Amino acid sequence: MGGESFIITMGVVILTGDLFIASDVRSIEEKWRRVWERERVYEIDPDPSKPKFYLTVAYPYPNSPQHVGHGRTYTIADIYARYKRMRGFQALLPMAFHYTGTPVLAMAKRLAAGDEELIDLFVRLYKVPRERLKELEDPLKMARYFHEEIKTGMKEMGYSIDWRREFTTIDPGYSRFIQWQFRKLRERGYIKVGTHPVGWCPSCENPVGMHDTKGDVEPEIAEFVAIKFRMGEWYLPTATLRPETVFGVTNIWVNPRADYVKAVVDGENWIIGLKASEKLKYQNLKVEVLEVFKGSELVGREAVNSMTGEAVPILAADFVDSGHATGVVMSVPSHAPYDYMALKEIRERTGLGIKPITIIKVRGFGDIPAAEICERMGIKTQTDKKLDEATRELYRRELSTGVMLENTGKYSGMRVSEARERVKEELLSKGDARVVYELVDKVYCRCGAECVVKILENQWFLDYGNPEWKSLAYECLSSMRIVPEELRLEFNNVVDWLRERACARQRGLGTKLPWDESWIIESLSDSTIYMAYYIVSKYINMGLIDPTRLNDKFFDYVFLGLGDLEEVASSIGARPEVVEQVRREFLYFYPLDSRHSGRDLVPNHLTFFIFNHVAIFPRELWPRQIVVNGSVLMEGRKMSKSLGNIIPLREAIREYGADALRIAVVSTAGLLQDANFSLTLAKSVRDFLEKIRTQYRVVASMPDKEPKWDRAERWLMSRLQRMVEEVTEALENLDIRRATQMVLYQMDNDLSWFLRRKGYSSLKEAEESSSVLKRYLEVRARLLAPLAPYTAEEAWSILGMPGLVCKAEWPKPDQTLVDEEAEMGEEFVRSLIEDTKSIFRVVPGKPSRIVYYVASSWKWKVYRDILSEPKTPTVREALSRFKELDVDKATLARFVKTLLESLPKIDRDRLSSWVKLGAEHERELLEEVKEFLERELKAEVLVYGEDDPDVYDPRSRAKLSRPRRPAIYVE
Ligand SMILES: [Zn+2]
Repeated sequence: MGGESFIITMGVVILTGDLFIASDVRSIEEKWRRVWERERVYEIDPDPSKPKFYLTVAYPYPNSPQHVGHGRTYTIADIYARYKRMRGFQALLPMAFHYTGTPVLAMAKRLAAGDEELIDLFVRLYKVPRERLKELEDPLKMARYFHEEIKTGMKEMGYSIDWRREFTTIDPGYSRFIQWQFRKLRERGYIKVGTHPVGWCPSCENPVGMHDTKGDVEPEIAEFVAIKFRMGEWYLPTATLRPETVFGVTNIWVNPRADYVKAVVDGENWIIGLKASEKLKYQNLKVEVLEVFKGSELVGREAVNSMTGEAVPILAADFVDSGHATGVVMSVPSHAPYDYMALKEIRERTGLGIKPITIIKVRGFGDIPAAEICERMGIKTQTDKKLDEATRELYRRELSTGVMLENTGKYSGMRVSEARERVKEELLSKGDARVVYELVDKVYCRCGAECVVKILENQWFLDYGNPEWKSLAYECLSSMRIVPEELRLEFNNVVDWLRERACARQRGLGTKLPWDESWIIESLSDSTIYMAYYIVSKYINMGLIDPTRLNDKFFDYVFLGLGDLEEVASSIGARPEVVEQVRREFLYFYPLDSRHSGRDLVPNHLTFFIFNHVAIFPRELWPRQIVVNGSVLMEGRKMSKSLGNIIPLREAIREYGADALRIAVVSTAGLLQDANFSLTLAKSVRDFLEKIRTQYRVVASMPDKEPKWDRAERWLMSRLQRMVEEVTEALENLDIRRATQMVLYQMDNDLSWFLRRKGYSSLKEAEESSSVLKRYLEVRARLLAPLAPYTAEEAWSILGMPGLVCKAEWPKPDQTLVDEEAEMGEEFVRSLIEDTKSIFRVVPGKPSRIVYYVASSWKWKVYRDILSEPKTPTVREALSRFKELDVDKATLARFVKTLLESLPKIDRDRLSSWVKLGAEHERELLEEVKEFLERELKAEVLVYGEDDPDVYDPRSRAKLSRPRRPAIYVE
C-alpha cells in the first residue's frame, strides 16, 4: 500500500464533527515526556528475574541537525525496543555521538573557509544563530553544538533511550577502550603495517573511506594489468581487467582529443594519458614527463602485441578516458561490447577491414559473443547506456563458463578463470606488464577534490583479508538473523571481498593509535564494538569509575573475564564491587541482540562490526541479529541539501508532533524499500491520531454497560484477538508497516463495521456497548504504544487505566474469545451486501424487495464431499460418487463442473469450514441479520430455502444458489 492510499483509507470517519475536540499535540507530548523522565522508565538495569534484549542503532555524526530522513532507523529501533519491553524484556537502547574523523572536521573546515552555501544552510535551515557561526568553525565546538541539538530531537521523538550511558568517541574513557581494542587486534595478528592501495584525497592528503566522500560513496579499488604494447623504443601500456583477452586484440584505442605524454616511468619509456601520468605518481611510480601531445597524433600508427608478436593499429575512440588507469585501452571486439561497437562504427565509416578475433568459447554464444549480446540487447551505438550492462553480463558469462580456444597457444582448453591468472603471471614475469590501480567509479572527497588510488607505504591496516579472520566472520554471519533475510547474500559478498583497510588518518578528532601516536584511528574503525562500552560508560557517568585511569587490565576483566579482580580494581582506583558489577552487567546484556542501521552501512560498518566482534569476543558473546532499513524519500525524491528538500527533524516535530512523524517515516514501505515521506502524509497522520484520542474520550465518558453478547460483539472481540496475533507477528518480523496498518487502519475499519452492524450512527450512540468498546480500546492502546507512544499514553490515561502504557504488558490473544463462526458470518454478510448492491446497479428503479435463496441440501452435500478430499477429482469421478442424489444428471453435471472450475481460485479452508456449518446455519444467520440487511439496503428482505414448497421465486433465481453464495432476486 502506498502513501496516498494510506491517507485515504485512514480517513475513515467514525466520529461526527461535533465531537472533535482540538487539543494541543505539543503539550500532550511535553507532558508525557516529563512523566517518562520523572519515572525513569527507560533507565534499564540488569534484572535477573527477566530476560534481556539489547539493541543499538549506529550513533550519529554531530555535524548537522538530524532531518526527517534520519528518523527512520531510530524510530524502527525504538518501536522494537518498546515492543520488547512490553513483552517482558529488559530492553536496553542506549545512544552516543560519533565525533571522530572527517565528517565533523570537513564541515568545520568548509565553514571556516566561508562557504556561502553552507553558511546559508546553517542559518536558514538549521537555525544556527549567526553570532555562533564563528565558534562552530572549531570542529569540537561544532560537534558539541549539534550533539545537543540531535539529543534534544531524539528526546522529542520519544525515543526510549537510556541517557545515563551516553558518551562521545573522544571521551578519555572511550579512547582507553579503543586503544585496548586495537592492542587486542594487533596481538591477534589482525593489524599489520604494510604497503597497499587506498582511496586517497590528494588535496587533504588523507586516505578516504565511505564517510569521507561526497554522497557517502565507498571508494572501490580495482587492479588493472597494464600490458605493454611496443612502438619502437616506446611502450603503450594498455590497462585491462581481462589480461587473457590479449590474444584477441585487434587494435588499440586512444582518445584523439585528450592530452597524452611521452614519459619516463620507472626507467621505461611510456606513452600514456597526461591525467593518468599525474595519478600514477600516487602509486609510487617515478614519472618524468618529456613531451605532451594530442591523442590524435597516435592515431594511424601501429604497436606490437608482445604476447602474439602481431602489429595492430592505433585507432580513435571517444569513450576512452585519458585519466582512467593508463588512458590507453586495448581493443578486443569479440569479447568486449564497447570495443565491438566502436570498431563497427569505424568500419562502417572508413571501410577499414579489421575483423574481430574470437579466443573464448562461451556457452550460449556463437562466433562473436560481443556482437551477439549487442544484438540481443538492441544496442546500436557506442554511446548506448546499455553497453555497461552488456559488458558486465558477458564478463560474468565468460568467467563462469568460458574456455580458451586453440588460437591461445598453451592456454588452449583452459577455463577463463584460470587463464586470467596464468596470463597475468606470464606477462608480469616477462616484464611485459605491470599492475596499476584505479577506482571503479569516480569518487569525490568531502572537500571537493577527485579521489585517486594511492599506494600507502608503512601504513597501519586492518587485515580483513586474513583467511582465519574471514572464516570466523562467516561463522558469525551464518549464525545471525539478518532482517530482511534477502540481505544475507550481500553480507556474504562483503565478507568475501574485504581486504586490507587503512585504519588511521593524520587529521581529525579521535583516538591515537596506541603504538604510533602520529596516527588517529579513523571513524569506521573506532565504531565496531562500542556497544560493549555502553555498559562501562554508565559507571563513569555515575562517578564510580575514573575514566582517565582505565587500562587494559580493566577491559580484559570486564569484557573477557581475565585477570584478578582485586588487582584490576586497585589498578584503576575503583572499588572491587564496582568492577565486579560492571562485569556482571556486561554479561547480562551481552551479546548484542539487535543492531540497526541503514542499508548504506552494509558494505562497511555492519560488516566491520561482525569482524571486530569475532576478533575480540568469545563465541557466546557474538552479535545475534542485524536489522537493515532503506532510506526515506521526500515527496518521491532523494533528500539532499542541494535539492533543498531537507526538513530538520525538530522543525517537523513542532509542526506535526512526534507520533505523526514516527508513523509517517515507517508506515509507507517495507523494511528494505525506500519510504516516501510527504507533508500531506504527516498531516493526515496527525489528524488521524487526534481522532483516535477523541474516540478514547468519547468511550471513557460512557457509563459502564455490559451489552448482550450477540454476533457483532462476538465478532469484534474475535477480530481483536486476530489483530493482537497479527501485530505481534508483524513486530517480531520488524514488518512495521504492517503493524502500523493493522493498529491504525484495520482496527478502525473493524470498529466502524461494528458500529454499523449495531445500528449506531456514531460512537457517541454506542453507550449500550461501552464495556466491549472499552475492552477493545484498552488493547488497542497497548498495541499502539510502541508505534505512537505519546498518543497511546494519553489514550491509556483517558481510559483511566493504572500506570503507564509503556510499562504495561503486551496483550496476548485470548483463544476463548476467538470465534471462527462469527468472523466467517460477518464476512458472509459483508460480501452479500456487496453482491446485492452490484445487482442494484443493473436493475432499473429503486428496489423495494430483496429475496435470498439458500441452496438445496444436495448442493451442500456435493460441496462437503469435494472440499473434504485433499485431491480434486475429475468431473467423471465426482459424478459417479453422487449417483444416488435425487437430482437430474444434467443439473448435477453443470453444478459439479462449475464448482471444480472455481476451486483453484478460492480459499478452500474458509469455504470448507462454512460448508461444515451447513445449510441450516446459513439460513438462520440470514434470518438473524435480516433487519440489518433491510437497514443497509433500504428494502424489504425475504429469505427462502431453494426447496421450500412455498418459495417465492417468480424469475427462477433459486436454482442459481450455492453454499455461501445464496441466489439473489431483486424487485
Ligand atoms: Zn579532500
